[in-house]
Amino acid sequence: MVEVQTLAPPSLFGQIAEHSHEQVVFCHDHETGLKAIIGIHNTVLGPALGGTRMWHYASDQEALNDVLRLSRGMTYKAAISGLNLGGGKAVIIGDAKTIKTEALLRKFGRFVKNLNGKYITAEDVNMTTKDMEYIRMETSHVAGLPETMGGSGDPSPVTAYGTYMGMKAAAKKAFGSESLAGKRIGVQGVGHVGTYLLEYLQKEGAKLIVSDYYADRAEAAAARFGAVAVGLDDIYDQEIDIYSPCALGATLNDDTIARLKCQVVAGCANNQLKDENEHGPELVSRGIVYAPDFLINAGGLINVYSEVVGSSRQGALTQTEKIYDFTLQVLEKAENEGTHPQAAATKMAEERIASIGKVKATF
Ligand code: NAD
Repeated sequence: MVEVQTLAPPSLFGQIAEHSHEQVVFCHDHETGLKAIIGIHNTVLGPALGGTRMWHYASDQEALNDVLRLSRGMTYKAAISGLNLGGGKAVIIGDAKTIKTEALLRKFGRFVKNLNGKYITAEDVNMTTKDMEYIRMETSHVAGLPETMGGSGDPSPVTAYGTYMGMKAAAKKAFGSESLAGKRIGVQGVGHVGTYLLEYLQKEGAKLIVSDYYADRAEAAAARFGAVAVGLDDIYDQEIDIYSPCALGATLNDDTIARLKCQVVAGCANNQLKDENEHGPELVSRGIVYAPDFLINAGGLINVYSEVVGSSRQGALTQTEKIYDFTLQVLEKAENEGTHPQAAATKMAEERIASIGKVKATF
């Protein structure tokens, strides 16, 4: 008889401890139907700032995984960008089309308020600046407000600028020149950030290939930027120099990496490597230069931070431009240390947290 072994699911505290999260808050309200989880990963550098995502998760476990993974990413993004922010994120469970109401958002705002500034929220998937206005009615610990309310507005143009800088740095490493003129670049996902990125790439004379979940969006981008639109799954098989993931995460995986013919991967999507420890080294072994996602997509966070500290959009763009130098540094460090760029970037972020943590150890 075959013995079937069942693995016990990890305990709740086991999951929270796995990546040393500081605090996880489960929020529930019967009246509005609010079910939310706030994940605070690390606040050594400052308050945990990260957006709230509204998503119809298949299970509570899936929502918890998402908030733990995303909040950890925010810690590293802030740390490597030199910001005095910690990492946090929130998820509201449910379909935005049916559950989102003013009352639900304001109730969520009260849970954020109760954290007394340890967590600052902002927009993420399925949340808008209008939703932030409702949350602002209950708490001041919210960023990403409209410019008319003194906020920093849409972060996407700044995210695109940083991604462009990171791509140029990776090109310098791979091709010996930062110029993208004549380079064949495949942009996967032509939403907010992807479209702004295409503007930069077109201006520089790149040859563009695009794909999007919505075929009409891909066609519209192709017409506007003189690009070729390809099918959803075909983007991985193109004869391109640079692959730019600007849609969802985990697109660098067992299936796709073997198909890539490019020498550079640089895009704005979060969590591009399905498994960092497996797919990071695999890209290196195939001679592909990978620009770490949380480093080159930090422009949006830098922009939101400008709202928290009261600086300007121009200040945010100037700081975002430094992503070029940081990316080159990370790529050099990875090569010198015989590791992959994502690991090198994570180590740099962890080193900054450790050293600044010591600064704060005394009054
Ligand atoms: P968006 O929703 O405006 O655009 C994403 C686009 O990707 C959409 O057009 C969608 O149809 C498309 N898409 C989805 N699945 C696809 C697939 N399999 N193949 C091709 N296209 C697909 O989102 P955005 O604000 O442009 O963000 C894009 C990515 O960048 C996300 O991963 C987001 O988390 C990340 N990011 C965004 C910002 C920001 O400032 N907006 C900042 C940091 C990171």
